[in-house]
Amino acid sequence: MKKSLLCFILAFAFAFGCLFVPQSVSATQTDDFSQYSTYNWLEKFVTANPSRTTGTAGEQQTANWLADEISAMGFDLSKQTFAVPVSGVAGASGNADTCNVIAKKVYDQQAKTVVIGAHYDNATNLYNGAVVSGGEGAMDNGSGVAVVLAVMQKIYQQNPVLPFNLEFVFFGAEELGMLGSNHYVSKLSQQQKDNILLMINADVVASGDKLYVWGEDKNNPQSDYFADISGGKIVKTPANTKVMGINSGYRPYYSVCQMSDHMEFLSAGIPVAAFFSGNFDADSFSFVENAGKNDVSHTPNDTINYLKQNFGTGFAVNMQTVADVIYDGVIQNADEFATAVADARNYIVDDFWLSLGNASLIALVFMACAGIFAYNYYKKLQKRAILGTAEVKTNSVFEKPDEDDIFTFRS
Ligand SMILES: [Zn+2]
Repeated sequence: MKKSLLCFILAFAFAFGCLFVPQSVSATQTDDFSQYSTYNWLEKFVTANPSRTTGTAGEQQTANWLADEISAMGFDLSKQTFAVPVSGVAGASGNADTCNVIAKKVYDQQAKTVVIGAHYDNATNLYNGAVVSGGEGAMDNGSGVAVVLAVMQKIYQQNPVLPFNLEFVFFGAEELGMLGSNHYVSKLSQQQKDNILLMINADVVASGDKLYVWGEDKNNPQSDYFADISGGKIVKTPANTKVMGINSGYRPYYSVCQMSDHMEFLSAGIPVAAFFSGNFDADSFSFVENAGKNDVSHTPNDTINYLKQNFGTGFAVNMQTVADVIYDGVIQNADEFATAVADARNYIVDDFWLSLGNASLIALVFMACAGIFAYNYYKKLQKRAILGTAEVKTNSVFEKPDEDDIFTFRS
């Protein structure tokens, strides 16, 4: 009985374990950065706004800078100001104002909307009072901002007519726990949520070994669509990036793919496609930026110079690839895109049974059943030992040897 129970428990634990499969990619090395519109935007953005910590004057300046760029490209501008607690930010206490900067392009009031977003705050001086520099936040998330601005610029230049409306959102306060996207989603009516065709997020799309697109932790049409459009340059995340039982507050399991603004949308039932760079394969048990070099995001190394010195143009190629795939996928092939993601909501994981409490309960029920089964099997063996196999008339494991059996045998 003990052995079978142990085997059962081990099998149960193994079934929900977390495994990774190795692959590899390396950055290219050339010197021409100006050919990449995303690099030009990154340099312009980071040079003008090197410090963007939530609640600081630097963040407000960044929001104003974004507003000016958005207006110059002919998009309808709005700002969503809200207060966030900043007591965890060095030198700050209480609440501070931050904002989401929103750019819209409306083609038809009745049409669906595609939301494309990136957070513009950075990690400088965060972490509970300890002064930790996040560098310039070039990768996290100057790279995402640069991708979104490059897509907007191309729309401005090409002036396409689309069968859906566009909303570009630069989120504030992501580093404090996705507070900007949380605020944005909290202000949507159910009708507005239903009207969003897809939310596309770009957060850290620079120096990682590989480019990923994540839609959900199972097959979904949007990941397939973007992976196909990219011609293999962007891959779907491995299916096993989650660990059961560690509830992140967004899904009933922990997954590195959940750690950005798109999760606020997915939690509201809105399908998402999240672009990011990194490497799931270099380390068996965790996600890293690059094999053997996991040292950019949220460190003083997160600067354009460090990216150039360590990754050549590889990080610029990554940013440009994501921007090109979003433009080609969503804008250039708008009808195919709308068709491909039309039923993306149907692929959102119905994971009630996976939630932490429910998973524990199910495990307990499984183990209790296994225990009852093992106990009854043991009693059946005991009965056989007393009666011999010929005397056991039933296979029911619930029948126990009783005094009548023993009396009959002996008489
Ligand atoms: Zn980020």
